[in-house]
Amino acid sequence: MSHQEVTDVPKGLYIAGRWRGASDGATFGVTDPATGQRLADVASATVEDALAAVGAADAAGKAWAATAPRARSDILRRAFELLIQRKEAFARLIVLESGKALAEARGEVGYAAEFLRWYAEEAVRIVGEVSTAPGGANRILVLRQPIGVAVFVTPWNFPAAMATRKIGPALAAGCTVVLKPASETPLTALALAALFEEAGVPAGVVNVLPSRQSGPVVAAMLHDPRVRKLSFTGSTGIGRVLLAQAAHNVVKCSMELGGNAPFIVFADADLEAAVAAAMVAKLRNGGESCTAANRYYVERPVADEFSRRFAAAMASVKVGPGLDETVQLGPLINGAALDKVAQLVGEAVAQGATVVTGGSARPGPGYFYEPTLLTGVAPGARILREEIFGPVAPVCVFDTVDQAVALANDTQYGLVAFVHTRDLARALAVSERIEAGMVGINRGVVSDPAAPFGGWKQSGVGREGGHDGLLEYLESKYVCVDW
Ligand code: NAP
Repeated sequence: MSHQEVTDVPKGLYIAGRWRGASDGATFGVTDPATGQRLADVASATVEDALAAVGAADAAGKAWAATAPRARSDILRRAFELLIQRKEAFARLIVLESGKALAEARGEVGYAAEFLRWYAEEAVRIVGEVSTAPGGANRILVLRQPIGVAVFVTPWNFPAAMATRKIGPALAAGCTVVLKPASETPLTALALAALFEEAGVPAGVVNVLPSRQSGPVVAAMLHDPRVRKLSFTGSTGIGRVLLAQAAHNVVKCSMELGGNAPFIVFADADLEAAVAAAMVAKLRNGGESCTAANRYYVERPVADEFSRRFAAAMASVKVGPGLDETVQLGPLINGAALDKVAQLVGEAVAQGATVVTGGSARPGPGYFYEPTLLTGVAPGARILREEIFGPVAPVCVFDTVDQAVALANDTQYGLVAFVHTRDLARALAVSERIEAGMVGINRGVVSDPAAPFGGWKQSGVGREGGHDGLLEYLESKYVCVDW
């Protein structure tokens, strides 16, 4: 299969501003989830390559930290402009390796670019503090300085945005980086490496290392004392492993982990708007999103009507290969993901749930699952406790506000929650009681490069986006001064 978007992308490792093969010559294949066909082979970094990338980032660090903030800002701004100019090519590349629908991929490229624009603006707004010590004898001066070499590990579901959400603030702060993209979607990251070079990022400031050996490669980098920062986006399970590894050298961590978002609909909600938001919260990125609504809790008087309308909307979604402009829902990322979704639905049905629409995989090639709505899901069912990561919506019923809040918080996760009601006072009161880093009120999506994105509980540590996202790459230095 030949696609220009794929042919044009470099397939090597990008270290110290140069493209090269892996030290042992190894490569791995990248597959199109819509067809199961191989798109390309890319170099698979070894531990030796990873340490070379850390060395390159370290060598470039001092000069990059000393580069004027305006110059760093201008480079990020150029990267933003280039990404917008190449939106279509990047979107098609993302569709090819991740499977998502073209409109979703275009949305992702816009979102990814906005992190570069936002952090181009933040690069010139790194401020310290000065105050008089309470005793009056001296001044308290606080400097903010770049933390140093940052290692990034990103997932396959947003191959461009999860990279720029980390690279943008790191470069703005004056840090140099090594990015290890997900093995399902390395091509977008490699295309971004080339784009950063074109935008004027100096050699060694951004290094990109696809690798089929993510475990040893990332562990080696985290045990290298030159690495001072880890930013990981992925599953809570791998996040735990990396937090333990980061403890060895006390590496500062930002962790964006899994979610299990509740979507609460009160009886007074605008049902039409709530259903539209429910669709976005479920089907953005085909359900393969950490912020995807995983559990719908609807107040009893409107539960049947909400389910009826939501099921009708789900049933009208066109499923197929993402490059088809008319398709709204592409395939899942791989066979394992498809099996997991099918298993969760199967178990729920075995425990008494009703399939209102969907409920099965589509015949291959490709990993397609029908948009599915379940009602009558047994409390405690695995589908309500684990990330579904697919186009399946379990709808449950509640009777009181306290019950809705208790159900919403009954999870190890705490990334985002959605609340639908016309009563703003109730929405805000419920928002305060929700144990999550983000709440959407009468919305189906909350992500915004200008806002602090992140989770409570086992959904993560730290924030990405907004000014908070910049602070993750800055150390504070208190200077006690008597002048
Ligand atoms: P994953 O399996 O945790 O993988 C994420 C990344 O970690 C990939 O680059 C993967 O590399 C790497 N990795 C896997 N095992 C590793 C190990 N032992 N040591 C070091 N790195 C390792 O997650 P995923 O399936 O790609 O992504 C889905 C998960 O990401 C979901 O849980 C979702 O909620 C979460 N997510 C969270 C956010 C957020 O902002 N909170 C955003 C998006 C996604 P390989 O691909 O080479 O295995």
